[in-house]
Amino acid sequence: MSQLRSVKGMHDILPEETPRWHLLESTYRDLVGLYGYREIRTPVLEPLELFVRGIGEATDIVEKEMYAFEDKGGDRLALRPEGTASVIRAYVQHALHAAEPVSKLYYIGPMFRRERPARGRFRQFYQAGAELIGAAEPAADAEIIDMAVRFLQALGLSDVCVQLSSLGDVESRLAYRGALVERMEKRKEELCGDCVRRLAVNPLRVLDCKVESCRAVADGAPSVMDYLVGDAASHFASLRRYLERFGTPHEVAPRMVRGLDYYTRTIFEIQGRSDALGAQATLVGGGRYDGLVSALGGPATPTIGFAFGLERLLLMLGERAATKGKRAVLVAGVGEGGVERAQDVARALRAVGCRVESGYADASLKSQLKRADRLGAVGVVIAGEDEAARGAVTLRDMRDGSQVELPLSELAARVEAMQ
Ligand code: AMP
Repeated sequence: MSQLRSVKGMHDILPEETPRWHLLESTYRDLVGLYGYREIRTPVLEPLELFVRGIGEATDIVEKEMYAFEDKGGDRLALRPEGTASVIRAYVQHALHAAEPVSKLYYIGPMFRRERPARGRFRQFYQAGAELIGAAEPAADAEIIDMAVRFLQALGLSDVCVQLSSLGDVESRLAYRGALVERMEKRKEELCGDCVRRLAVNPLRVLDCKVESCRAVADGAPSVMDYLVGDAASHFASLRRYLERFGTPHEVAPRMVRGLDYYTRTIFEIQGRSDALGAQATLVGGGRYDGLVSALGGPATPTIGFAFGLERLLLMLGERAATKGKRAVLVAGVGEGGVERAQDVARALRAVGCRVESGYADASLKSQLKRADRLGAVGVVIAGEDEAARGAVTLRDMRDGSQVELPLSELAARVEAMQ
C-alpha cells in the first residue's frame, strides 16, 4: 500500500525534538506566571465569522490564507489562523469582565494559515501569546512589551530590540491614511495589482507589500509619527518613557505594519537576528486592539497582546535549546524468570522516580548490554537468578564497566545518584 504523508506545510514534531519544545513552553509558562497570566485553551475550530470580524476582511489572512469550509451541517467554520480573536471571543462569551476588571490570559497552541511554505513559515505553526484585557494605560503596554523581552532573555537571547510604533486613534489614523493615499495615488502605476486594490480598501497594507516597485513607493511614504496627535501621542510618549525607565531595548519604526486590521495605538515587533531564520525574522508581533472586545459583542474594553512563533524561536535558539533529561538505567533480567524479575525491579525503581528501561522477552545478557549502549543508558541492573537468591542485584556502571553486587534495598539510592 502507498504511504500517506502529512499535509504540505504541516510537520510532525518527533520525540527527538519535543524536549526542546518542552523547554520553550515551560520557560514561557513560568515567565508569564510571574506576571499573573493564567492559561486559556480555546478550540482550534471557530465560526468563520469570528475571524472576518476580528481580523478584518481585507487582510491577507482572511482573504487568502484561511482554512475555511462548510461542515456537514452547513456551518461555516475556520481553523484559527491566530489566537487573539478566539481568546477575546471566549472572554466575551463567558463574561470574564464581570469577574475581574483586568484579565491576564495566555495561550500556547497551533495556528493554521495557508501561506507559501518557506523556512520559518508553515501552514500549521505554534504560537505562544498573551492578552492583557481591561487596561488602557501606557504602563500596561510597557509591562507586556517588557514581558516579551524578558521571555527572550530567559531563553538566553539578549541581543533583541523592540520595534515600536503607534497607529494612533481614529482621528490621526484618518489623517495618516489620507496622506498615504494622496502619495500613492500619484505613483499608482508603480504599484502591483494587489496594492492598487489595497489602496482603496486598506492603504496601510501597501507599506507591507513585498513587491520591489511597491517597496520603492513605500520607502518614501510619510511617517505615522508625524500624524500622531492628542491622547494617542501622549500615550506613545509615556510608553517610551516607561521602556526607557525599564531599560527595555527599543526603537521607533514608523512604517511598521501588522498583518491584522484590529490594531489601534501601540504596535510592536521583535526581529530575530540570525541567518537560521531566512526571510522570516519576526519572532513576535503584538499591539493594542482597543476596539476588538466590542467588535465581538462585549463591552468596550481596552486590550493589548502579543504572539510569539515557536518554530522561529527554536530556529533562532538552535542547539541552545537542548535539554538534559535524566539518563536511563536498563534493568536486564537473566536466566529463568528473568523478564518477571526485571519487571519487578523496574516497577520498584520507577515508583521512586527513576527513569528505567527494561525488556519484554528473554534475551542474553550480551544483547541487553548492547541495547543499553544504544539507549545511552548510564547503568545496567542485572537481575540474575543467583543474586535473586541472595536478595541482591548487580549494578554495572556503563561509564567505566565496573560492577558491584548490592542488596535490593540499596539499589534505588545508587541508581538515583547515577542519573
Ligand atoms: P502574527 O499573528 O501574524 O502577528 O504573527 C505572530 C508571530 O507568529 C510571528 O511573529 C511569527 O513568529 C509567527 N508566525 C506567523 N505566521 C507564521 C507562519 N506561517 N509560520 C510560522 N510562524 C508564523
